[in-house]
Amino acid sequence: VIDHGQPEHAIVTTCAYCGVGCSFRAEMKGEQVIRMVPNKDGQANHGHSCVKGRFAFGYATHKDRVTKPMIRANISDPWKEVSWEEAINHAASELRRLQGKYGKDSIGSITSSRCTNEEVYLMQKLTRAGFGNNNVDTCARVCHSPTGYGLKQTFGESSGTQDFDSVMEADVIMVIGANPTDGHPVFASLMKKRLREGANLIVVDPRQIDLVKTPHVAADYHLKLRPSTNVALMNALAYVVVTENLVDEAFVNERCDMASFNKWRSFISQDMHSPEAAETITGVPAADVRAAARLYATGKNSAIYYGLGVTEHSQGSTTVISIANLAMATGNLGRKGVGVNPLRGQNNVQGSCDMGSFPHEYPGYRHVSDDITRGLFETTWHKELSPEPGLRIPNMFEAAIDKSFMGLYVQGEDIAQSDPDIQHVHAALRSMECVIVQDLFLNETAKFAHVFFPGSSFLEKNGTFTNAERRISPVRKVMTPLAKYQDWEVTQMLSNAMGYPMNYNHPSEIMAELASLTPTFAGVSYEKIDQLGSIQWPCNDETPNGTPIMHKDEFMRDDGKGLFMLTGYVPTAEKVTPKFPLILTTGRILSQYNVGAQTRRTDNNVWHAEDILEIHPHDAEDRGVNNQDWVGIKSRSGETVLRALISERVQPGIVYTTFHFPESGANVITTDNSDWATNCPEYKVTAVQVTKVSQQ
Ligand code: SF4
Repeated sequence: VIDHGQPEHAIVTTCAYCGVGCSFRAEMKGEQVIRMVPNKDGQANHGHSCVKGRFAFGYATHKDRVTKPMIRANISDPWKEVSWEEAINHAASELRRLQGKYGKDSIGSITSSRCTNEEVYLMQKLTRAGFGNNNVDTCARVCHSPTGYGLKQTFGESSGTQDFDSVMEADVIMVIGANPTDGHPVFASLMKKRLREGANLIVVDPRQIDLVKTPHVAADYHLKLRPSTNVALMNALAYVVVTENLVDEAFVNERCDMASFNKWRSFISQDMHSPEAAETITGVPAADVRAAARLYATGKNSAIYYGLGVTEHSQGSTTVISIANLAMATGNLGRKGVGVNPLRGQNNVQGSCDMGSFPHEYPGYRHVSDDITRGLFETTWHKELSPEPGLRIPNMFEAAIDKSFMGLYVQGEDIAQSDPDIQHVHAALRSMECVIVQDLFLNETAKFAHVFFPGSSFLEKNGTFTNAERRISPVRKVMTPLAKYQDWEVTQMLSNAMGYPMNYNHPSEIMAELASLTPTFAGVSYEKIDQLGSIQWPCNDETPNGTPIMHKDEFMRDDGKGLFMLTGYVPTAEKVTPKFPLILTTGRILSQYNVGAQTRRTDNNVWHAEDILEIHPHDAEDRGVNNQDWVGIKSRSGETVLRALISERVQPGIVYTTFHFPESGANVITTDNSDWATNCPEYKVTAVQVTKVSQQ
C-alpha cells in the first residue's frame, strides 16, 4: 500500500463498476486521485465498498490509455494519429458516404452501460435525429433486456421494484440465478446482515454460490436445478401456491387484472406444472420445491432477487414474467421487504435502458410508433423521426453479413469479446466499411475499427449513473480528460459534423431536456440531485423526491393493474449429446469485472489472473483431469483451453467458467441461441466436451 499522505480536497462521485452504484469520495492531490473512500452519506452503500470500487481505479491513468484519435483506411493498416477535427470529419463523411451508397438505414450505434445517462441519451438522439433511423441498441441487450421486457409487460415499468434497504425488512429472501457475493458485493453484505438476523433463504442456482453456505448464513433450500430449466421450476413453485391455496386473494382481487389471473390460475394448476412433473426436467426434488414454495408464500415479507442466471437464456423473458407472476400471486409487491429485484450487472444498465437505448423505445420506454410521443420528440429535436423500430445488435450483425448494414459507432462496449458466438460477430464487423470505436483502450473491437475515438473514464466526466434500485447518482469530474473531451462532447461534435446540430454546454442541460420529455424523470434536475444526494425515479409532481418502492397503490400499466401472463416451458435448443455431454455455464468473480478491460489494468489482478474451468470431481476423474491441468473445451461453435479447478460447487454434468480475460475465449464457445422476446444471448447454456490437454 502506498501512503500518499493527506488529500488536498475530495469530490463525491459514483463507482463505475457494478449496479450497486456505491458513492465515493475521490480524495485528490491536485488532479491525482490518491484514494477512493466509500462515502458514509452514500444512499446505496452507507459507507461500504468492495475491492473494485475502493482499489481498482488505476485503469483511468494506465499506460494503455489511448489519448489521440486515430483513423485508418483498412483494418489491416496501421493506425494513424490525427487531430480531433480530422477524426470527427472523417467519421462523419464516412457515415454520410455509407448512407448515400447503401441507404439511410445502413448505419447505427451501440450505447454503453458504463457511460453516463447523458452520454447514452445523446447517442440515441444522434442515431434517431442525426442518422435518421432507430438503429440504436445497448449492451443491456446481452444482459438484462428480458428484465426490461418482462417487467414492462407485467408491472408496466422496466425496472426493479425496491430500494436496497428494503431487504432489511424481508423475512424470506429468494435469490435466483445471481451471485451477489461476487457480482454485487456491497448489497450482498446488506443481505447477509438480514440473513444473520434470521431471514430465511432460498437459493435457485445450478451451482453452489457462496450464499448457500457461508459463515453464519446457510440457505434453507438450495434448489440446484439443471441449467435452462428456470421456467419449469418457477412454474412448479407457482403450482404449489395455487393448488395449496396460498394465493393472496385480496391482493390479486384489488391490484391485478382478474381475467389474466384466472387464465393463469387454470394454466398453472395443470399437473404438468407440478413439482413432481418438474423434477424430471429440473432435477430438483419435488419435496424441496413444495417446501420452498410454502416458505416463500407464507413469509410475512418475501423478496426475490435475481441476476443473469435468469435473463441469459432462450426463455429469459419467460422466467422474468414467471417471477412477476409469483410475486403478484402471493401479494409480495408494493411495500418494504418484498418485491422483484433484478440485480443489474453494470453500473448504468438501468440508466442506459431508461435513456432510450433500445431500437423500439424512446427515453422512458415509450414505443417509437406512438404518434404522440414521437411528436413530442420531433418538436423538441426539430426533426422528423422514424416510426419504425430499428435493428437490434444481432440483427445489425446479420445485416452486415448481408451487406445492408455497413457503418457502426460503438461507445464503451467491447462487442468483439463480450458477445456470443464470437466468430459470427467478427465476420460481421469485418463486413462493415466504417466501424467507429470509442473506448479507453484499444479493445478487441478496435481490431475491426477504422476510426478510434479516445474515451473518457468516469473520473474525467460529469453526468449521472442509475443503479439497480433506480437511483440516479452524481458522477463528477475529478480530473481533466486525458484525451481532452468527455464522451458526450465527442458525440456532439460528430452530430454537428454530420449536419444535425447539438449545442449543449454541460450535461445538466442534457438532463433538463430529458426531464422535459420524460414523465418519470420530470422532477429530476442536477440541482435536486445535489440537494438530495441522489434520486430514485419516478420523480415528478406526484413524487417530487423520488420513489424508493414502486407499485405501492397501483401498477404502472395503463389500467393500474398487474398483468399475469402464461409461461409455458420450452426446452432450450442447446442439447447435450454423447459428443457434447456437459453443460457449460458462466459467471463472475469478485475481483474482476465483465470483460476485464478495467480490472485487468489494476492491482486487482493480484487476486485472479486467469479464467478457470470448474469441473465436478466425477467428471474430472472420468477424463483423467487433475487440479490445475489444462483442458480443452469444445462446443458446436468453437473451442478454447482453460485451466481446470476440481470443485463440488458444480454438479456432475455441469462445468463453469468466468469470462474476464480475452485469451480464455469463453465467448468463442457460447452459442447463438437467444431469448425469444429480446434476443438476449443464452450465455448460460452451452453443450461442451472437455478433454485433458496437458498437465499443469
Ligand atoms: Fe463498486 Fe459495486 Fe463494489 Fe460498490 S459493490 S464498490 S458499486 S463494484
